[in-house]
Amino acid sequence: QHELTLSLQFVPYGDKQKLLLSRDITKLERIQTMRRDFVANVSHELRTPLTVIGGFLETLSDDNQPDPDTRKWALELMSEQTRRMQSLVEDLLTLSRLENTENQVREEHVNIPEMLRTLYEEAKSLSGGHHRITLELDTTTKLLGNLFDLRSAFINLISNAIRYTPDGGNITLRWAIQDGKGVFSVQDTGIGIEPEHISRLTERFYRVDRGRSRETGGTGLGLAIVKHVLSGHQAKLEITSEPGKGSRFSAVFPATRLLIQQGE
Ligand code: ADP
Repeated sequence: QHELTLSLQFVPYGDKQKLLLSRDITKLERIQTMRRDFVANVSHELRTPLTVIGGFLETLSDDNQPDPDTRKWALELMSEQTRRMQSLVEDLLTLSRLENTENQVREEHVNIPEMLRTLYEEAKSLSGGHHRITLELDTTTKLLGNLFDLRSAFINLISNAIRYTPDGGNITLRWAIQDGKGVFSVQDTGIGIEPEHISRLTERFYRVDRGRSRETGGTGLGLAIVKHVLSGHQAKLEITSEPGKGSRFSAVFPATRLLIQQGE
């Protein structure tokens, strides 16, 4: 799927003319750079957990067996790193599936309020009761789209709100019809984001604070997944945020995707 522009041009050459063939390789180069960066990023993400696991395996296989507490601690850390690699691989597979434009996406009438009621329960269990979570629903609308993909985009936005909001904070999940458009938003009273980062958040592996993202089980791919799912639904991601106050991530769906049900 490389786009290569070839152009033919007659240029003066002494008293004759010469035919010049040129090609625009800038796009190709850009794609190659992106691919190289991506491979470097994935390798880097895998290297850290593998190093940790490798180190602990060595400790555990030592003849002077560590005491039971150290053993338990090492095993816990090893399974945490394994989970991290599993999430990374799952997110990579999701992204690659979404990027494969040949995949036919099945569309159906998705009952968003019903989906959000389930996600609300999941959000509460994910938060472990550490946040006040509220659900506000417009109950009269269905959305034409892919249930599985929408669900994974919404859960990514919700889990981010939980992960970037300190205990005791508020999180509001809202589905509303605004100016004829369908808007799903997640608002939090979390750490917020400095303005200069906002336009880059949907880039693969872009994180404001790498340490915090990792500590809370982030892969750096969540918003890239959200962006792909939304663009497949001709929807937009809108982000407003104030550092120290909180953020709002809104998925805005065009009116053409809404099915307003009467008499519910
Ligand atoms: P990650 O797995 O690191 O959370 P994402 O792609 O989901 O990756 O998000 C990219 C970055 O955007 C995060 O690392 C974090 O810095 C920032 N971010 C995302 N959601 C929020 C939020 N609700 N509040 C503050 N920062 C956020």
